[in-house]
Amino acid sequence: MITVLSGGTGTPKLIRGLRQILRDCDITVVVNTAEDQWMSGLYVSPDIDTVQYLFSGLLNTDSWWGIRGDSFETFHAMEKLGYTEPLPLGDKDRATCIARAEFLRQGMTLTEATKKIAKVYGVQATILPMSNQEVTSYVQREDKTLMHYQEYWVERRGNVPITGIVRKTADDVQPAATPEVIAAIEESDGIIIGPSNPVTSIGPILECTGVCGALSKKFTIAISPFIGRRPVSGPAAALMQAWGYEPTSYGTWQVYKDVVSMFIQDIRDTEIEVPGAHRLDTMMTNEKKAESLAWDLLSYLPRK
Ligand code: GDP
Repeated sequence: MITVLSGGTGTPKLIRGLRQILRDCDITVVVNTAEDQWMSGLYVSPDIDTVQYLFSGLLNTDSWWGIRGDSFETFHAMEKLGYTEPLPLGDKDRATCIARAEFLRQGMTLTEATKKIAKVYGVQATILPMSNQEVTSYVQREDKTLMHYQEYWVERRGNVPITGIVRKTADDVQPAATPEVIAAIEESDGIIIGPSNPVTSIGPILECTGVCGALSKKFTIAISPFIGRRPVSGPAAALMQAWGYEPTSYGTWQVYKDVVSMFIQDIRDTEIEVPGAHRLDTMMTNEKKAESLAWDLLSYLPRK
């Protein structure tokens, strides 16, 4: 069994490749939940949904979120009523978020609710939210006010100067990884930290109590999402700078260096030197390329 730490775009692309080689039941995914939010009375968990729609064959892989072919009738009907939701949720996708909110209100943990929903979608892999506590990533603006990461990226397209990153929990208590997350790491043959955003996807998972300690005892490979001073996609460069790190593979390695056994840079990332890094073609522009990267990574992992 292998465990993958994931956000909602870069790592799911890699998971798509891993699925060509491994059985789904041999893959556990620990998913970032710091982009979750309550919205219109429902609970949106974008990265969990991307991962579970991927495993169930429903994912819209053009956008890497939502369900392929979903309708947006509720969203547009609400718009006509004068309410524009900050995130445009499709109708079927919305059903997932409504059910999850209801399960949480009934007293289930996020882990339990995720398991119940994933089972209905026929997911054979194990999908684990990083924590059962609510954690939220905010960007800090120049005037020191905070903005939810989803508002920064989805609504404002990152067009807001930022000076810091703030993670908030309900009681200002550091979130704990769930026992399921720690057990999955401990029982895995190896761990892959996928090419996700270090600040808003992997950082929150590493910050959960217990995760770094568990990872440092295992063979852990991390793949950089940067080539040169730019990420392959998305706002990771501005976020890394706001977090106090260089927006490069070197900065990413600095975030991960205490837990990784092997760090992978892209073969095109020639200007940036990371001590001891291996180089692979990490550009997963199609499923075949993702599979090829997955073969390379698995060949490094100790397998039982
Ligand atoms: P989010 O939750 O939607 O922000 O998605 P992730 O954090 O999982 O992934 C975003 C990161 O994936 C970005 O920083 C991209 O640079 C990276 N990424 C996307 N596609 C690729 C790819 O094909 N190769 C590599 N190396 N990184 C990628």
